Amino acid sequence: MRGHQFSASQEEALVQGPRVVVTGATGLLGRAICREFESGGWIVIGTGYRRARPRFLRCDLTDEGAVKRLLHEHKPEVVIHCAAERRPDVMEGNNEAAVNLNVHATSTLAKESAACGSLFTYISTDYVFDGRNPPYGEDDSPNPLNAYGRSKLDGEREVLRHCPGAVILRIPILFGEVETVTESAVTSLWLKVQEATEESCILDHCLQRFPTSTQDVATVCRKLAERARQDPFIRGIFHFSGKEQMTKYEMAVAMAQAFNLPSNHLIPQTELSADMTSRPMNSQLNCSRLELLNLSVEPQAFTAAITDCLWPFTADKRWRQTVFH
Ligand code: NAP
Repeated sequence: MRGHQFSASQEEALVQGPRVVVTGATGLLGRAICREFESGGWIVIGTGYRRARPRFLRCDLTDEGAVKRLLHEHKPEVVIHCAAERRPDVMEGNNEAAVNLNVHATSTLAKESAACGSLFTYISTDYVFDGRNPPYGEDDSPNPLNAYGRSKLDGEREVLRHCPGAVILRIPILFGEVETVTESAVTSLWLKVQEATEESCILDHCLQRFPTSTQDVATVCRKLAERARQDPFIRGIFHFSGKEQMTKYEMAVAMAQAFNLPSNHLIPQTELSADMTSRPMNSQLNCSRLELLNLSVEPQAFTAAITDCLWPFTADKRWRQTVFH
């Protein structure tokens, strides 16, 4: 019987574990995804841009040649594409650069992943929906309300056009281990919670959100990639989301309660303001397609997970001393 011939890269994968390229490795979600794949025994090639060095590769994803070199050099089994422009002010103001990253770079990555035979996973968003008729299944018609949602939907279309064997994972608003509290719209609320001694603070109590932990999304990405490598039917769009429906006001109150802080300065804003019309009212994602795969990822309870993320930013420095000394 003739033995199976392994290529050099397959042999390396057998000895050292499979390789994954994670774009946006310096970002909120990318950092969690790198950690998760590393602890699962994968060889992680993380890429960043402005914050890349020294830990990650610096690769401007809007440079087609650089993307080609990256994937052809490393020939990863899996690519997880997290890098994106998601800041609303940048999206509306500097649209060309943002579209270059969110759409054109996605297109190049999808094309080159297909050429290298890598399993491509594109991270997308609930903002592809208008939020008027939740919950949304994978086949429901998208209708983004703002430039960010439109660019991510265009990214999805490029992925499916160039890499039909890709996976698209749509997720809602994220929180996780942050470098500064302002890095995520959820942890930013911590600043409002701490304003207790000052004037009252009005917080949106209209838009319904499903805050989701980056750690949970990272676990889904790893397990989904591992399963999809074995099963060619695991392709196309999946939804994943935290289970608790909360407004920003409710998230802030939950944070205050978790740390035993006053919350009576937080005032719920119950009337829609002009800037809310460009964001979905309730883009709840129906996650049943992913649940059918039984990946065993139960979203963490919001209070427990957000407490872990905010501990390093509490005024009580004794905690930090116990951890770092
Ligand atoms: P993030 O923290 O803003 O990180 C963005 C990443 O993109 C950074 O690693 C950044 O690298 C990289 N990047 C920017 N310009 C680049 C360029 N020209 N070339 C290469 N890399 C570049 O984003 P995130 O919150 O982790 O989001 C990850 C994904 O989840 C995105 O696709 C986003 O659409 C999606 N998502 C996010 C949320 C959320 O609430 N955050 C919700 C739903 C979906 P440097 O910092 O090193 O420059």
